[in-house]
Amino acid sequence: MKTIEMPLIFERSRPGRVAYSLPDSDHSCEYEAELANLLPSEYLRDEEPELPEVSELQLIRHYTALSTRNHGVDSGFYPLGSCTMKYNPKLNEDVARLPGFAYIHPYQPEEQVQGALQVMYDLAQSLAEITGMDAVTLQPAAGAQGEWAGLMMIRAFHEAKGETARTKVIVPDSAHGTNPASATVAGFDPVTVRTDERGLVDLEHLRELAGEDTAALMLTNPNTLGLFEKDIVEMAAIIHEAGGKLYYDGANSNAILGITRPGDMGFDVVHLNLHKTFTGPHGGGGPGSGPVGVKEDLIPFLPKPVLVKKEDMLTWDYERPQSIGRVKPYHGNFGINLRAYTYIRTMGAQGLKRVSEDAVLNANYLMRQLQPYFDLPYDTVCMHEFVLSGKRQKKAGVSTLDMAKRLLDFGYHPPTIYFPTNVEECMMIEPTETEAKETLDAFAEVMIQIAKEAVEEPETVKQAPHHTAVRRLDEALAARKPVLKYDRG
Ligand SMILES: *Cc1c(COP(=O)(O)O)cnc(C)c1O
Repeated sequence: MKTIEMPLIFERSRPGRVAYSLPDSDHSCEYEAELANLLPSEYLRDEEPELPEVSELQLIRHYTALSTRNHGVDSGFYPLGSCTMKYNPKLNEDVARLPGFAYIHPYQPEEQVQGALQVMYDLAQSLAEITGMDAVTLQPAAGAQGEWAGLMMIRAFHEAKGETARTKVIVPDSAHGTNPASATVAGFDPVTVRTDERGLVDLEHLRELAGEDTAALMLTNPNTLGLFEKDIVEMAAIIHEAGGKLYYDGANSNAILGITRPGDMGFDVVHLNLHKTFTGPHGGGGPGSGPVGVKEDLIPFLPKPVLVKKEDMLTWDYERPQSIGRVKPYHGNFGINLRAYTYIRTMGAQGLKRVSEDAVLNANYLMRQLQPYFDLPYDTVCMHEFVLSGKRQKKAGVSTLDMAKRLLDFGYHPPTIYFPTNVEECMMIEPTETEAKETLDAFAEVMIQIAKEAVEEPETVKQAPHHTAVRRLDEALAARKPVLKYDRG
């Protein structure tokens, strides 16, 4: 139903108002006629487009008002589990805007862009060191694309050995949804390995599944429940003995920097999300960066071209007959890679280790603050994130979704909810290392208040949010019947 106010508030256009002033066009009429000839007449409009006519001040106020409706890590706490919404240092932005980086073109001759190539070379080496891998490609533009590229390399590796019957990729039931999806897109059949009562991969089940048809095991460690897979060395042995490869989903590496390395755990391939762990801004849909590291025996299959050093010059090597090919135009999202490079150089080895120590400390501190008020399915030391269950509140008729919506009233971004799917009424909380103790305390206080409200005044939570620009949106309707165009009607 349309209210009377809505169009009045939204519609600000009045004929004749302008937000710009431009000099008169100096193009001749002939030129315009010529231009019109370039397009077939059926594509030309008969009438002037109906564009909003507003003053510069109205325009500025409109966009400024819209910008305050966004929640970002610069505006408030953002404990969205598995997404690592840490602070993005502004120094990164200064470096990314240096003209020598910002104004180069990927088709410039190599000798003109040696500095930029050196950054890519050094970043790849740093990431190889951090993960314990032998070589890294910076091409993939996201975590999911990194997964796919990594699996394509594993596939090429098996095929090169003539082992074409390796069609299965084993994925735990707690895995991020992109894992089985990437396996499928890479032409494999994903099979699920169970999580046991410890919240870890069920080793017996893994033994049953591993065999001659195993191409790889994809694993996140710490897993999406925030728990470290302690049996990883044994799991690696099981998979390697079966002839498979180990794939590490390192999208959130916030618990392991400088402490342990996937390469040392036995993994053969790893992707990182530079837009999560390494402070690339994200949350608005990109751009991302998902570099992939591989062990020695997979190097021939890396996406091409590969950056190599030849007599003090960095150059792109296209002569890679076993390469899976190019996976992204140009050379990856250079701007995001540059920010990650700046971050790594700013932090240094000791600083990165401190990142993980503080991320784990913050998560454990918050977990213990909240534990008395919610169900804690795995009561053990967590890594960079932890999982609570809203089962207790659900009994009072208040769902995890309701509580997430209620958090909005207090200016917090809710945690990830209903994922991983193997925990009922799940809330996955990742505070990250960049939050102060006071922020964690204030958030805990609000969570505790909501837990009390769930019992004492459930309607307050069920009707939430009360103070946001929009209330609960009909997500299904928005997806099925999107209204993409403003109709002045
Ligand atoms: C975010 C995430 C991904 C996917 O990364 P994208 O960059 O969004 O494609 C994969 N695995 C895990 C565990 C993640 O948290």
